[in-house]
Amino acid sequence: MLNITNLHATVADKPILKGLTLDVPAGEVHAIMGPNGSGKSTLAYTLAGRPGYDVTDGSATFSPPSFVPSEVEGRVSTSLGTNGGGGLDLLEMEPHERAAAGLFLGFQYPVEIPGVSYLQFLRESLNAQRRARGEGELSGADFIKLARAQAAALDMDAEMLKRPVNVGFSGGEKKRAEMLQMGIMDPKFAILDETDSGLDIDALRIVGEGINRIMRKADKGVLLITHYERLLEHVRPDRVHVLQAGRITRSGDIELARTLEREGYAEVAA
Ligand code: ADP
Ligand code: MG
Ligand code: MG
Repeated sequence: MLNITNLHATVADKPILKGLTLDVPAGEVHAIMGPNGSGKSTLAYTLAGRPGYDVTDGSATFSPPSFVPSEVEGRVSTSLGTNGGGGLDLLEMEPHERAAAGLFLGFQYPVEIPGVSYLQFLRESLNAQRRARGEGELSGADFIKLARAQAAALDMDAEMLKRPVNVGFSGGEKKRAEMLQMGIMDPKFAILDETDSGLDIDALRIVGEGINRIMRKADKGVLLITHYERLLEHVRPDRVHVLQAGRITRSGDIELARTLEREGYAEVAA
């Protein structure tokens, strides 16, 4: 579903990804672990198309199993290119086109937005994607119904939805908000970069359960970037990869994550 081959990328002209190859089939959750500075966040931002992250070599193809006919698909044969196997050439797509094709990057707007409620933000995000896919916008009533159902699944106080985006959210609330966003967007593929070193046990459980409930489906996939072995105990990834100095140096199952937790990167992946 996501095929990355020999990816090289630079940040501010500095080579960070140096030949990264990774395949995530539909129905699977893959974890990426790695020491600080190894390029984990760079991988997430490069796949999302963030400005400033420049691909210098390699490819990244996204093949959603049930791709919705849309404005984006209409452009595949023209400007986007299909990269042989019929998948979308992710690196040729604008960030909003990647999102409309079903790619989700965990909290794309981590900023605080005073004056815009979380509910307004989510509704506009969802409707922007629906428009890009050629689908109609959800009515206000239907959107509220959807948001309430997703909030309930997260044991989230619906009052929180009325608050400005992220302003004064606790760590656990931010994670619930991120999972709410993922549940409402219902993406085909999620790239989640758990950079926050302050995640407590409660927040890790919220993320783990959210991934399992929303994304553990035969036609979906997840790339979960984390240095928390504990999060992986919730999610039980199908594969665990170690990223070091810009490339994958080891792959295995969850046992690899447990070994890393015990012994550290230097011992395991040298
Ligand atoms: P990780 O997420 O694995 O900790 P990052 O992808 O954040 O690693 O960073 C990889 C490398 O890229 C680090 O050496 C970091 O200093 C460098 N880097 C990241 N962002 C920038 C930037 N905006 N400008 C220059 N160097 C950067
Ligand atoms: Mg880091
Ligand atoms: Mg990082």
